[in-house]
Amino acid sequence: MEEMDTQLSTDYETVSANNDIFTSLEQALQSLTEGDVRDILADIDTVSWIESRRILKGQPFSFKDRDYLLQPYRDEYQNIIFMKGRQVEMSEFSMNWLLHKLDAHPYTVGLHTFPRAAQAQKFAKQRLQSAIMDSEYIKNWNDAHNSEQVMRKFLKEKDAKGLQPYNFYILGGTWESRKDTVGDAARGISLDFVVYDERQDHPDDVETVIGEGASHSEYKQTLTLGTPKLPGIQFDQQWEASDKHYWFVKCEHCGYEAPLTMDNIMDSGQFDDEPDWYYGCPHCRKPLIRTNGRWMATNPQKRPEFRGYHINQLMVCWLTAEEIMKKKNSTAYSRRRFYNEVLGESYGGDDIPITIAMMEECGKNEFKLGQLGDNERIYCGIDWGAQSYLWIHNKHHRLIDLYIADQSDPREHPKALARHIAKYKKYVKKVVCDAGPDITRFYSLRDELKELGVTNQVYACYYATPPAKTDIQWDDKKMIVTVGRSEAIDKVIDEVSDTNLTLPGYDLQNEKVDMAIEHFTNIAAEKAETKSGNAFIIYVNTGPDHFLHAKIYADIASGGAEYLPAGGSAPCISNPRQQFTRTKSGIYVPQTLSNGKFATNAAPRNRTSKHRNKRR
Ligand SMILES: [Zn+2]
Repeated sequence: MEEMDTQLSTDYETVSANNDIFTSLEQALQSLTEGDVRDILADIDTVSWIESRRILKGQPFSFKDRDYLLQPYRDEYQNIIFMKGRQVEMSEFSMNWLLHKLDAHPYTVGLHTFPRAAQAQKFAKQRLQSAIMDSEYIKNWNDAHNSEQVMRKFLKEKDAKGLQPYNFYILGGTWESRKDTVGDAARGISLDFVVYDERQDHPDDVETVIGEGASHSEYKQTLTLGTPKLPGIQFDQQWEASDKHYWFVKCEHCGYEAPLTMDNIMDSGQFDDEPDWYYGCPHCRKPLIRTNGRWMATNPQKRPEFRGYHINQLMVCWLTAEEIMKKKNSTAYSRRRFYNEVLGESYGGDDIPITIAMMEECGKNEFKLGQLGDNERIYCGIDWGAQSYLWIHNKHHRLIDLYIADQSDPREHPKALARHIAKYKKYVKKVVCDAGPDITRFYSLRDELKELGVTNQVYACYYATPPAKTDIQWDDKKMIVTVGRSEAIDKVIDEVSDTNLTLPGYDLQNEKVDMAIEHFTNIAAEKAETKSGNAFIIYVNTGPDHFLHAKIYADIASGGAEYLPAGGSAPCISNPRQQFTRTKSGIYVPQTLSNGKFATNAAPRNRTSKHRNKRR
């Protein structure tokens, strides 16, 4: 019973009524065993259910130092929304929320949606699978025989009437759902509980499309989670419509009560040479206990469309003030990124999304230009201009080579580039070039590459400009591909932020590599608006950005990199470190080639960049 006592005493006003019930229950149930009590509590209380049913990293799920999670878990409001920073364990929340709903309500169906099907599959494989397998209770409940990776069936033991209540936990991507998966599932089955994960990246009409599938349900509960980007995007509007609960922390010394902001991070002044950061009360400057808080609505309404909770990295127990300040002062964090990912706030200002420091992070390895493994597959992208730029990378998005055609007659460029690409003849899989400004350059490139026997997989790319959102569209007859310009740049920014792009670390000072690094930093994000007032990001160049576009065309050619993205709000579960072996040709390759990007296991190089000073 000791465990329960702790549990029951950690709550606060909003659930004190519940606490009274638990206390009387506790007295009445003295005769039962500890296990009986746990089961009974699990039946009536979400938090108890999670504590006794979920195992995380070999231990029962614990709410220690996570007091702010208790109320949201117990909240039965119909539509709940989380405005959150990155890596604040909210994917875990969404899965627990959904599993508990299903267990509590027989014959119901839950849908866990992500923007893209690949994210859903990854989540199913890495997170849901272990949640099921690690827990005795959930493992027994899971009908493994009739489950698929993205459609889990759960089946209870036969009850007294011989009935076996079942549930379904379905995962899907909403962009693809326009064509198949979720859309069909949503039409065929009545949905009772829906999670919109990474809501900021879903299509605008996602609730309408998915909602149809929930129209017959008696529950229709939804959980929406997202990390803000711009003010005014749909996810931000949903948050603004909510009652916006913030975690107000009370100072035990002076009684001052306020949500956690950067004002709570203070320097003790203890050391002369370096700051000594701590969480403190902005009123009396004494140390603050961050768990000593309560949720308060900052936008109270009678029947808000959403119950809103704001969770940022300042609230989570495993990040110190020191670590937050490190991120704030890091050149690897743009201002926008710090606002969005750490503070969980949208950011409307203009900024430079890719910095020199971020690019250098991608070059912390000993790869050389031109280094190729056996059975390498490579992809080329070309941006035409007065000079024309070629970017070559492999399927892991490791940069292999750069080339600039600088003949004064631009009609010579296709020939020169084709000759350079021909050096990699047996490896080249696909080539994508800029369609404009002169489509005849594409034709000559295509003819040259055919003649040299390199490949006939040569495409011209058109950018669709925002606000139009375009998935990559291939026209194999005309050999044309269309892609959303902002979305393509977004992907590069994400890849660089997550250091999934691999630059040849040994050759970082190479003139062309150096130029490419500079080109990547020559874009700025600007906020724009449609006539109807919807905000979107547009990228403008602040200097030459040719290699960035050449890289985008190579991205399109490779159709997405084969690396394990560190992205999403899900922290990495499996150990991303891999064993590497060295091939005959002297290249490090992962032992499981299909399972990650190339080695980055060399010592970091100190690059004394001329840009460093230039770009301050
Ligand atoms: Zn105080």
